Amino acid sequence: MPRAVVGIGANLGDRLAAMRAAVRMIEGVARVEARSRVYETAPVGGPAQPTFLNAAVLVAFDGPALDLLDRLLSIEATLGRVRMERWGPRTIDLDLLWIEGVSVDDPRLVVPHPRLRERAFAVRPLLDVVPGALDPVSGEAYAVPPGDLRETDGSLG
Ligand code: ATP
Ligand code: CA
Ligand code: CA
Repeated sequence: MPRAVVGIGANLGDRLAAMRAAVRMIEGVARVEARSRVYETAPVGGPAQPTFLNAAVLVAFDGPALDLLDRLLSIEATLGRVRMERWGPRTIDLDLLWIEGVSVDDPRLVVPHPRLRERAFAVRPLLDVVPGALDPVSGEAYAVPPGDLRETDGSLG
């Protein structure tokens, strides 16, 4: 079964509670095999907004990647995410960061996530759950880029 990594971010309300709720809902659609640490990170792009928590989970998912994306988008909606401006604040953001050995280029889904490599807040949790993860196209190992990122003692539960 292909392994995939879902990035989880939140910067409104009880961020850790929203992230834990998201993980429980992801467990309803895929097998969650590992959870990253939880990081506090400075917002990148978009308007001035509160600090983020970021994390990731490793899942085993049997089916098309677009189906997994649809499940993730519906979990976001259930948890009350409202899309306003691009890169704006959100109760929960679920991104399909990486699928082992697979790249996807669809109008609705690009994997690996197109901005993964430049984002410490995405690569660091990805490497927590898949140490030595490789880019499926270049075969290169991911390295954490510079970025404002602080480990917290929170856990995804
Ligand atoms: P960013 O993509 O820069 O992290 P964002 O997460 O704020 O920004 P969203 O508004 O959450 O962007 O997503 C917009 C759309 O991006 C989604 O509806 C989805 O169709 C598309 N998308 C493309 N590739 C991916 C991916 N790998 N993971 C999640 N969504 C993706
Ligand atoms: Ca995102
Ligand atoms: Ca997103």
